[in-house]
Amino acid sequence: MTVYAQPGTEGSLITFQDSYDNYIGGEWVAPADGEYFENVTPVTGQVFTRVARGKAADIEKALDAAWAAFPKWSAKSATERADILWKIGDRIDANLEKIAVAETWDNGKPVRETLAADIPLAADHFRYFAAAIRAQETGTNEIDSDMVAYHFKEPLGVVGQIIPWNFPILMAAWKIAPALAAGNTIVLKPAESTPVSILELIKAIEDLLPAGVLNIVNGFGAEAGAALTSSPRIRKIAFTGSTTTGRFIAQQAANLIIPATLELGGKSPNVFFEDVADKKDDFYDKALEGFALFQLNQGEICTCPSRALVQESIADTFIPDAIARVEQSVQGNPLDTDTQVGAQASEAQMKKIKSYLEIGRQEGAEVLTGGDVAHLDGDLAGGYYIQPTVFKGNNKMRIFQEEIFGPVLALTTFKDFDDAMSIANDTLYGLGSGVWSRNWRTTYKAGRAIQAGRVWTNTYHNYPAGAAFGGYKESGIGRETHKMVLDAYQQVKNLLVSY
Ligand code: NAD
Repeated sequence: MTVYAQPGTEGSLITFQDSYDNYIGGEWVAPADGEYFENVTPVTGQVFTRVARGKAADIEKALDAAWAAFPKWSAKSATERADILWKIGDRIDANLEKIAVAETWDNGKPVRETLAADIPLAADHFRYFAAAIRAQETGTNEIDSDMVAYHFKEPLGVVGQIIPWNFPILMAAWKIAPALAAGNTIVLKPAESTPVSILELIKAIEDLLPAGVLNIVNGFGAEAGAALTSSPRIRKIAFTGSTTTGRFIAQQAANLIIPATLELGGKSPNVFFEDVADKKDDFYDKALEGFALFQLNQGEICTCPSRALVQESIADTFIPDAIARVEQSVQGNPLDTDTQVGAQASEAQMKKIKSYLEIGRQEGAEVLTGGDVAHLDGDLAGGYYIQPTVFKGNNKMRIFQEEIFGPVLALTTFKDFDDAMSIANDTLYGLGSGVWSRNWRTTYKAGRAIQAGRVWTNTYHNYPAGAAFGGYKESGIGRETHKMVLDAYQQVKNLLVSY
């Protein structure tokens, strides 16, 4: 067990600045109107720094820098760009602990996750897209004996990227790495509640990137965010966040006639078929672990398996065992490597989750465990903690239909395969899903029947760079991760040549 010191205190790996500026044209630049906003750590609820409150003028400045950098960056060979991305990946690895502690402090997520998953995965995405752009091929067609069609993939130009607060660094890596690999330059806005870890990451890698290739403007959605997504000077928008904001951004993209990649909300089903209950080997244990994964990242994951569907025939044994597994999770100081469940990312998010705990009760759902805020001691008393909660109810309830984005599971039972699929698909969303069975035919059939972009089969919450990620239905448009994403940051030039 390691307990990292709180940033700024003796022995801490990281000390945050008193204030952070925007990063534009390779320099740290104060906001045009001099305004800053306070940034709070959800671990203790205390303000720990101030951040530039960017607005339209700052976005314009960043767009100037990004367009100025575009000709040179896009003219670099794929190998040259790949070399830089590869070095960024290595640099992130070299600063693992420091960046992991920064992410934990800014977001409230346990350091065991930032050390083992968020930061190493971010580094890996840079290296993956470095390799992918070098391996990318384009087609040549011989139309007839006198004519050949050559196809070239060209970058789009300056792209706008809007990052959520649940995985600040990983979501930034998912967006930055393919965009830069493909030869674009970027203006990126972090989420206002978690901007600082991204800025610390930039400090660690800034010497590797030519000025203006990557620009960061901090600020609020309605100010810096809206100025970026409505600008006629961007050639694409990539957004991760709520479906409500995503819908608005899609309308802006339609007006600008630019592509939009939208990673939005989810209400993912996690389906447990009766054959998981056979205890002859460790599969049962694996399934219980998969059930408990709704608590990962405090449930603040768009793919959170927030609906569990358990076959009726095993409900009497499986559900108590699964609840016991949930109750084994250690909630506490996010800077302690033993902690599995940390703090919600903001006070607003904690209040939203709390309101759903009330809604669940009012709807008549049964509380099987949890059901309240968690009161921690000492410094942590002011932080934003919620008890992992399991409700039992039915799929018509609001807690089954609306994205709560917290450690709150809505559990129900099903009779047979068709019943399971009908409940699983009875949602506006289609991002993640899980299927658990020893029977390959069952998992395959369920995997094909569930209307979602990702179906984890006998596993959950793996995010390898080489697997496509994205939503069906109201969960979004387009994909992230996997080399196919390069296409979303490129346009095809056809040279039709007559000989
Ligand atoms: P949000 O969609 O408002 O914010 C996400 C990002 O979009 C932030 O960077 C924000 O500044 C920016 N943004 C907001 N309004 C904008 C606008 N008009 N133009 C441009 N950018 C804008 O989400 P939120 O309010 O922070 O959270 C609300 C709910 O959204 C959460 O409770 C959760 O259910 C959901 N959410 C989902 C994801 C996901 O990964 N699917 C991520 C974050 C939040």
